Amino acid sequence: MALGRIPGAPGSGGSEIVTVMSSGAWSGRPGPAAPPPDAPPRVVVVGAGIAGLAAPVRGLRRRPDGSELLVGSTRDAQLLRAHAVVPAVPAHPASRLLAEAVPSAATELAGIDYASMAIVAAAWPREAVRRLPAGSGFLIPAVDGGLVKAVTLSTSKWGFLAGEVPGTVLARMSIGRMGEEADLQREDDELGAAAVAELAPVLGLSGLPVATRETRWGRGLPQYAVGHLDRVERIRSALAAMPGLAVCGAAYDGIGVPACIASARRAAETVPTHVGATPEAG
Ligand SMILES: Cc1cc2nc3c(=O)[nH]c(=O)nc-3n(C[C@H](O)[C@H](O)[C@H](O)COP(=O)(O)OP(=O)(O)OC[C@H]3O[C@@H](n4cnc5c(N)ncnc54)[C@H](O)[C@@H]3O)c2cc1C
Repeated sequence: MALGRIPGAPGSGGSEIVTVMSSGAWSGRPGPAAPPPDAPPRVVVVGAGIAGLAAPVRGLRRRPDGSELLVGSTRDAQLLRAHAVVPAVPAHPASRLLAEAVPSAATELAGIDYASMAIVAAAWPREAVRRLPAGSGFLIPAVDGGLVKAVTLSTSKWGFLAGEVPGTVLARMSIGRMGEEADLQREDDELGAAAVAELAPVLGLSGLPVATRETRWGRGLPQYAVGHLDRVERIRSALAAMPGLAVCGAAYDGIGVPACIASARRAAETVPTHVGATPEAG
């Protein structure tokens, strides 16, 4: 899809140093700034890795023909123009990115809470597990007062894994309920031992695991409060007034991977409308 070109607009590219001041935050050299007029539209998905720019995006501002991104460290920032931008990042980085361009959406995004969690993965010889439940895992309700909130029986869930480690049971324990951050402040060894001790009577474990690994996921899970759907609607309405901007990810329509993919498809459907209709300003 080729874009038109506004007559008299400055040329694209070049190696001059550009300083764009806005709230004192914008200062960078041009990266692969504006694509040539016959280039296909540039759509940047923030959070999915930008070709050739493995760096965080620190700012976004609107242009008549799309958006401009500030990419990279403060010492070596690059400006990147795009016809459309999809922040596919968690709500708080998305809020910071949209603060200048769409302040009302930024405020709504900042209001979405996140819970931190940790995963304890453990391995036992099959004979040490006397009661292996059917299925791929189970949830443990908060009313039980335990540390572990969910268990994935990894070797039951993924056949390929069972094939890789025959005679071994691998389990993944999820820890970290909203408001129970203190549980996560233990050292790795202590956290792992506590999780394994909690699982021992459930699986009828006859010994300690042969290996454990703890992984932390700080602010990894968005928490949908009452009114979340209305909040998401307000975010999308605010963005609808900004052609070429759409959001997607776990903050919106569900935290599971299938829901994230669905929100990405929805974002992908909205941005081309703008991309096809807008002239390239150089
Ligand atoms: C421990 C754990 C286990 C899970 N298990 C399952 C499961 O079994 N099944 C399931 O369906 N779901 C599971 N989920 C949920 C699911 O994995 C997540 O909700 C989903 O991956 C989120 O995808 P996302 O693209 O929205 O965000 P992310 O995967 O968090 O991707 C966002 C990306 O944006 C990047 N980023 C952030 N800020 C910037 C910036 N300013 N500039 C550039 N990049 C930036 C981040 O580095 C990150 O790479 C699990 C989640 C966790 C935490």
